[in-house]
Amino acid sequence: MVKFIDSLLNFIYPPACPLCGTPVSIHGELCADCWTSFEWISGAKCARCGYPFSSDWEINGVHLCPTCASGNGELDWIRSACVYDDVSRSAMLPFKHGGRIGYARFMSRAMIWSLRDIDVDADVVMPVPLARRRLFHRGYNQAALLARPIANALGVPMDYDSVRRKYRPDMGHKNARERALNIHGVFDVVHPERIRGKKILLVDDVMTTGATFSELRRTLIRAGAAAVYGVTFCRIARTV
Ligand SMILES: [Zn+2]
Ligand SMILES: [Zn+2]
Repeated sequence: MVKFIDSLLNFIYPPACPLCGTPVSIHGELCADCWTSFEWISGAKCARCGYPFSSDWEINGVHLCPTCASGNGELDWIRSACVYDDVSRSAMLPFKHGGRIGYARFMSRAMIWSLRDIDVDADVVMPVPLARRRLFHRGYNQAALLARPIANALGVPMDYDSVRRKYRPDMGHKNARERALNIHGVFDVVHPERIRGKKILLVDDVMTTGATFSELRRTLIRAGAAAVYGVTFCRIARTV
């Protein structure tokens, strides 16, 4: 029956690449051309921050980039599916601000793929919270759209209301230091009993300077979280 409904739906709405409209075999999937235009992070990477980093340099048998080796990594580990460039930006902006929520399908699938080399032991998946005022204007939290399929794939619950985010004006193009100051104290744990002792996998669409993750991690650890991990669709490439 499900198969019949599926074929009926495919007949009425033939699956098409969400980015360019080329016919594909499965709803929500990218066509081969669009798929290959992204810079997927698939090779050697830092064991902690996931940054593409190919070198034989290891510390105590762990492959770490210089930033993480110097103790400046943001989370216990973080992975991203692809590099933030013109291609991923052209998908991210309509997804985040233009209501193209259907993109969550291929994005979350790529994020699950980015976790393939990790034994994920998270107890809960948490989308990076959006301030209520932003949620009201945008109508959805793009991080929550990505977090739901990831929580389902990992078989763990999603927590989207234990932490609240205060509204702060847009960070725009501020530098790393200004972003860190702007985000300081922005998160409040409203259900600490749900955080205590938990290993939490944070989900967001993009990682830029890592200031948001750092601040959220600090807030969660202070509330008693046992570990804080992260996964994003894309990340800004930094010099390591
Ligand atoms: Zn396409
Ligand atoms: Zn690193």
